[in-house]
Formats: sequence, structure tokens, C-alpha cells
Amino acid sequence: MNTIFDKIISREIPADIVYEDELVLAFKDIAPKAPVHYLIIPKQAIATLNDANLEHQALLGHMMLTAAQLAKDTGIADGGYRVQMNCNADGGQVVYHIHLHLMGGRALGT
Ligand code: 5GP
Repeated sequence: MNTIFDKIISREIPADIVYEDELVLAFKDIAPKAPVHYLIIPKQAIATLNDANLEHQALLGHMMLTAAQLAKDTGIADGGYRVQMNCNADGGQVVYHIHLHLMGGRALGT
């Protein structure tokens, strides 16, 4: 499935990219829910967390460590932040290319 995130990876549509390496891309969410709201996506398209398997184990870990590094880089690490992945309709997933939300910069509550 070709999603909007594939178009961001290929630069067909612009995004405010904050980090990139050979495995992942991170950019600002277009509708931020917190002062810092980044999306960390793999360059490899995986539709949902249900589609991930052992082959993706290192990639998923890399996404988490990238989120933690970006939290440190933006100065929200000590105050705290939230890392979230939504899965399918009931989980609130809208874009079917897995991504982590990194949110922080204010008290997020429950
Ligand atoms: P989901 O609900 O699938 O977990 O999250 C998708 C996120 O992608 C939403 O927070 C939404 O604001 C963001 N988003 C959707 N389209 C775009 C886009 O074209 N550019 C950027 N930067 N973010 C997007």
C-alpha cells in the first residue's frame, strides 16, 4: 500500500524532517498534539504492528531508540514524554505505515 508516508520518504510531498538515517525518518506531525510531536517511521513499509515479525525486531528497537534520542535532543527527556504506536481502527491508526508518535513538552495526563 502506498501511503502519504511513502510520499514523504520519497520527497514527493514535503515534511519538516528532523532526523534521517538508513532505516528511519522522523518528521514533525502536521497536526501536533503537544509542543513536540514527531513521527518516527521506518523507510520500509509495514502497514500495522500486526504485520511486524522477528525480521523487524531490530528495526522496531531502532525506532524506539531514535525516539529517545530525539527526546534528549529536543530537551524534553528529563521532563518526560510519551511514545505511542496506534494499531488499526480501534487503536486510532489513520496512516497504514507503522509509526511512533513522540509527544512531549507539556504534561500529557492520562
Ligand atoms: P495515526 O493516527 O495513524 O497513528 O497517526 C497519523 C499521524 O500522521 C497523525 O497524527 C497526523 O496528524 C499525521 N499526518 C497525517 N498526514 C500527514 C502529513 O501529510 N504530514 C505530516 N507531517 N503528518 C501527517
